[in-house]
Amino acid sequence: MANDLRFQVVGEAFKKKPLDVKAPSERPCEYFGKHVFNREKMYKYLPKDVYNKMVDVIDNGARLDRQVADAVAAGMMAWAKENGVTHYTHWFQPLTEGTAEKHDSFIEHDGKGGMIEEFSGKLLVQQEPDASSFPSGGIRSTFEARGYSAWDPTSPVFIIDDTLIIPTVFISYSGESLDYKAPLLRALKAVNMAATEVCHYFDPAVKKVTSNLGWEQEYFLVDEGLYAARPDLLLTGRTLMGHDSAKNQQMDDHYFGSIPERVAAFMRDLEIQALMLGIPVKTRHNEVAPNQFEVAPIFEDTNLAVDHNMLLMSLMKRVARKHGFRALLHEKPFAGINGSGKHNNWSLSTDTGVLLHAPGKTAEQNLRFATFIVETLMGVYRHNGLLKASIMSATNAHRLGANEAPPAIISSFLGKQLSELLDHIEKADKEDLFSMDGKQGMKLDIPEIPELLIDNTDRNRTSPFAFTGNRFEFRAVGSEANCASAMITLNSAVAEALVSFKKRVDARIKETAKDFEHSGHNATYHAIIDILREDIKVCKPIRFDGNGYSDAWKAEAAKRGLDTETSCPVIFERYLDEDSIRMFESLGVMTKKELEARNEVKWETYTKKIQIEARVLGDLSMNHIIPVATSYQSQLLRNVERMSGVFPKEKASQLNARNLKLIEEIAERTATIETQVEELVEARKVANKIADEHQKAIAYHDTIAPMFDKIRYQIDKLELIVDDGLWPLPKYRELLFIR
Ligand code: ADP
Ligand code: MG
Repeated sequence: MANDLRFQVVGEAFKKKPLDVKAPSERPCEYFGKHVFNREKMYKYLPKDVYNKMVDVIDNGARLDRQVADAVAAGMMAWAKENGVTHYTHWFQPLTEGTAEKHDSFIEHDGKGGMIEEFSGKLLVQQEPDASSFPSGGIRSTFEARGYSAWDPTSPVFIIDDTLIIPTVFISYSGESLDYKAPLLRALKAVNMAATEVCHYFDPAVKKVTSNLGWEQEYFLVDEGLYAARPDLLLTGRTLMGHDSAKNQQMDDHYFGSIPERVAAFMRDLEIQALMLGIPVKTRHNEVAPNQFEVAPIFEDTNLAVDHNMLLMSLMKRVARKHGFRALLHEKPFAGINGSGKHNNWSLSTDTGVLLHAPGKTAEQNLRFATFIVETLMGVYRHNGLLKASIMSATNAHRLGANEAPPAIISSFLGKQLSELLDHIEKADKEDLFSMDGKQGMKLDIPEIPELLIDNTDRNRTSPFAFTGNRFEFRAVGSEANCASAMITLNSAVAEALVSFKKRVDARIKETAKDFEHSGHNATYHAIIDILREDIKVCKPIRFDGNGYSDAWKAEAAKRGLDTETSCPVIFERYLDEDSIRMFESLGVMTKKELEARNEVKWETYTKKIQIEARVLGDLSMNHIIPVATSYQSQLLRNVERMSGVFPKEKASQLNARNLKLIEEIAERTATIETQVEELVEARKVANKIADEHQKAIAYHDTIAPMFDKIRYQIDKLELIVDDGLWPLPKYRELLFIR
């Protein structure tokens, strides 16, 4: 019997037409932020003094008092009502993937038997979701199984359908963070404080330093019907089996190719909705693999950018379904073709301009630029293992280290010009660096930085942390990840480096002040150069401009003392290194207790993911693959029998030779699969007995995950020989090329 379901869904997928997406009558800049309670709406709906107070809260971190909160809530409510909103929710980012929300309506008893709608400052500012079922790594013991969510006024509230959505942090009653946003806000504060102080060496007028993030989100689209016929995609987000399509990405014809119509309609729809939600999406294109695409906004303040990425990921899933697609955010949904990442373009800027942008005008500006580059490298060097931990997950592990994605060793590519600049500062004769220039006094001999840097085409695609003109691009982040994880670590590492830099520069200034009196030399710049020269030497091992995929680099990186670990659960241990704890605690980002609790969650999540994959693979092997292969084998056997009845013995055995070989191959492969699935079940039983989450995750990594590929190998071979009409699961060529 033919496999009807598969042919039916393939046929339907072929017939689907692009949806007709109605473009709004206004231009994008007119409807941008339409569903957001942004400054423009605040100005309109809040009393003047409340508006001013809110601006102070958002821009300067001023405290928000109860009266102001009440007034803000009233303004929000008025705006929300005009937009048909009936519910509100506190929206937060738990340690699982994605976001969480619980909707409440505005209605309350009015005390006279009727109902009124109400929304107070109290409800806006704080709420208690029933938090006991969010992972907390044991921070919330059963008797205090409660956490609360608290409004983050720096990220504006917005409307989706009938609901007012309030971005919040999620904290336990004992004060520990149970989410990504709380530590992110603390890390951003730390880098702001540290960087502002360092900026004061160059410009005392700088008031604040902002961390910026521009993410590039990669994803796959798959037809919804085909997706539903793949239990592995549905339950694990990736295909656990499936032979390569004869054609996939080898022709390089998808990248920057024209966007298929059904997909283009989806993208238009997504962009319109994203813009209305205030997400400044700008770029869309095909990616390298078939059915792979990318969307990227204009960069924003990191906290807002993180929220916008979380929002976009959930919006994308929704809009995809409307268009008969499923959006796959998994880092490696298909073997044999590229996986998906999320480049995190990161920079620092002051209220007066981007800090990592080479100005090339004055020596002082160039010195400031060099300072921030070198101290960023110091942070990345000191915490390269931790940074890897911050982007690691069971799913991203498939992508890292493969020959398409960043290697599993963190290093930084600077390009020729920037490398030369650092080499010059390090090696130039000190006398030459500081020359006296007549009346003007000291002159710094920092070579001018060419404008060209900004259009740096000399981009090394294999580098996980590449300088690209006015920012660093952290390319190891997974497509499914919350960017906050990487941003917490990166901003903390840079903050720590800047704090240490400042301390050492100040000490040096004190030591040398006397020597420079009346010399016309600037003691501060001398001290800065001294410390930079030290640091350039120290962090040199992180600089690598070569091919990150080569084995030679792996050996070299180990020699340089960089972290070369590849096991996901072991990499998580970096969070509990003394250096990491000291850094997070000293900056007030996370405590040891929080770090321990969060690692429990990480290990548990890792185990669960592998566990689910193991179950799905086992089930599909036993109830999809083996029965179908056996059924085909029976057909062949019948054929062999009948042939033997028709032809003389010798002729029959000659004619039956091919089928007999197939029968044997099927018998052997199905038997192997069966044995391997049994072994898999046994290995799980052993691992499940381990009580310690850390050790259990390691067992799952070491003994269970490696069995998947062996089973898959046998299944994929069967896919090649079993009658296509019987095969139950949509094949790669169908999943990846159908519009
Ligand atoms: P690519 O050429 O790597 O695809 P794009 O030009 O598409 O890069 O930009 C990628 C992202 O980098 C965008 O989100 C963009 O806004 C962001 N970006 C540009 N400049 C900066 C900066 N100084 N800091 C942070 N992000 C930036
Ligand atoms: Mg990029």
